[in-house]
Amino acid sequence: MKIHLRQIPEEGLHLEGDEDCPIPELEKEGIKCAGPLHYSLDMGISEGSLWANGRLSQGVEVTCVSCLERFVHTIEVPDFALLTELTGPEMIDLTPFIREDILLNLPAYPHCDRQDGKVCKAPEVKPEIAKEDPPRKPDWSALDKLDLGKN
Ligand SMILES: [Zn+2]
Repeated sequence: MKIHLRQIPEEGLHLEGDEDCPIPELEKEGIKCAGPLHYSLDMGISEGSLWANGRLSQGVEVTCVSCLERFVHTIEVPDFALLTELTGPEMIDLTPFIREDILLNLPAYPHCDRQDGKVCKAPEVKPEIAKEDPPRKPDWSALDKLDLGKN
C-alpha cells in the first residue's frame, strides 16, 4: 500500500479500501488470507513525519487446534496507528506497518468456536487424572535379596 506524499493535503487524508494480502508467505504455515485486507485510515503530515491511524481487518483461513478443521478468523485491528519520519522518498509504503499489526494479532492457537458462535467438534479432553496407575502392591522381592544382617 504505497502512498505518494503529494497525495496528502495539508488538512490530511482519509483513505478506505482493499489491499492485497499482506502476509502471503504464511500460506506455507497454513495461514491463508481469505479475501483482501480492508483498511480505513486517516493520515497526515506533521513536522516531517507521516502519521496514520484507523482500522484494519483481514480474514484469514486457519486450522482449529482442537478439531483441525479449517475456518476463517477475522483479524481486527481497531486502533492501528503509525508515525514514521519522512526521510527522503516521496513514496511511502505502508505495507510493512500494516503487516506487523496483522502479524501481532494473528491467533497463536486458533479455536474455531471463538468467533461467530460456532461449536467446536473436537472431543472433550478428559483431565489426566484418569490415566493414573492403579495402586501398586508393594514389591518386597528386592528386600528379600538384601542381607538384613546377622544378630
Ligand atoms: Zn474446532
